[in-house]
Amino acid sequence: MLVKNLYNYYSTKQQKGDVIVYDYLIVGAGLFGSTFAHEAHKRDKKCLVIDKRDHIAGNVYTEEIEGIQVHKYGAHIFHTNSKKIWDYINQFAEFNRYTNSPVANYRGEIYNLPFNMNTFNKLWGVSTPQQAKEKIEEQKKTITGSTITNLEEQAISIVGTDIYEKLIKGYTEKQWGRPANELPAFIIKRLPVRFTYDNNYFNDRYQGIPIGGYTKIIEKMLNGIDVQLNTDYFDHKEKLDRLADKVVYTGMIDQYFQYCYGRLEYRSLHFDTKILDDTDNFQGNAVVNYTDDITPFTRIIEHKHFEFGTQEHTVITEEYPKEWTVDDEPYYPINNSKNTEMYKQYKELADIEENVIFGGRLATYKYYDMHQVIGAALATIDKEFS
Ligand code: FAD
Ligand code: UDP
Repeated sequence: MLVKNLYNYYSTKQQKGDVIVYDYLIVGAGLFGSTFAHEAHKRDKKCLVIDKRDHIAGNVYTEEIEGIQVHKYGAHIFHTNSKKIWDYINQFAEFNRYTNSPVANYRGEIYNLPFNMNTFNKLWGVSTPQQAKEKIEEQKKTITGSTITNLEEQAISIVGTDIYEKLIKGYTEKQWGRPANELPAFIIKRLPVRFTYDNNYFNDRYQGIPIGGYTKIIEKMLNGIDVQLNTDYFDHKEKLDRLADKVVYTGMIDQYFQYCYGRLEYRSLHFDTKILDDTDNFQGNAVVNYTDDITPFTRIIEHKHFEFGTQEHTVITEEYPKEWTVDDEPYYPINNSKNTEMYKQYKELADIEENVIFGGRLATYKYYDMHQVIGAALATIDKEFS
């Protein structure tokens, strides 16, 4: 049920002596909050889900524009190695057979991603894995230290200097707004490196796009649960807290504690979405990354290719990274050493905060993908109901 104006609803009920008491107030109608709400509701718990946005689904929100499912907050490809998580999400949608194979555009030169034999062949003319490995071995000699301490060293040690310069440095420094040698190495380890001719961006066993979009998944998860949108928790915290026994909080952890240890840093994005009527196929692929340091956006998404669309027109989104400020959405935690240390302090406070569960990408300050968020929400449920 969508509660349009909770306070009116609440006071009318109160006047009738019929006080609503929720077991859980869930702050955030994203994937973590919705998975938690769904599972708690199944266990006969009464939940109220609120979100400050005017829609459910958080960053996985999709909206149909001109017959095309548009990923409003950037490309979302579901992938997981876990049969349990795959079966879980498949309760709520049927998935298509989309396999993510982005291409990189470096000043007009096109390369396959992730880094694989197609990339090595185009870049160096090599045709065997042995030749590619020799080339990388030769180039990684520029790394002199014995331990890898940052993204730049990590990248060069796995793919060499040519790929680092053309396909990683420019993209990474635009995306994160920081020099690659000041970023954590784990970020680049998200990308596979393969000595086979295989352009699949993920190594996971299961992958696809939900037919009909992600918003429908979240609608199904929240079926039968009270939801109030356009409601910022911090604008009504005292009143809202009184409505429920426990809070599940999925917003920014530093905001929850009123920035008492300082502000954690986040990267934000600006999405520029355009409907193109003069072409049915703008770039021939769902995702094209612009890896130079001059193009101001990092990638262009052509949404119809996620679902093999045959419409006469197309919808594209350019993705412009920017530093987060209070008026932006905090899309990515920046897990460098300074922020990691600050997060640890907030985590200590979170661990002793009574009757509040912290979960999801923002409240745990983790660079989580969707399958990890579902896994974390299900683990929280297990703990809560064990
Ligand atoms: P969110 O979706 O951020 O939900 C949190 C919700 O809380 C939001 O709706 C927010 O409005 C609400 N909220 C916050 N503060 C308050 C408050 N004070 N009061 C009320 N409401 C509040 N994952 C993949 O697996 N594959 C991909 O291809 C992929 N691509 C991505 C691309 C981009 C550009 C981004 C940013 C992320 C991508 N992800 C991808 C990651 C995926 O989006 C996240 O793992 C997932 O959406 C996180 O869910 P969540 O519930 O933790 O957070
Ligand atoms: N990356 C890169 N070049 C690319 C694609 C990715 O250097 O063409 C690096 C960049 O640092 C990026 C990271 O790899 O932040 C992780 O990429 P991924 O595609 O997983 O990013 P996301 O989809 O989460 O934004």
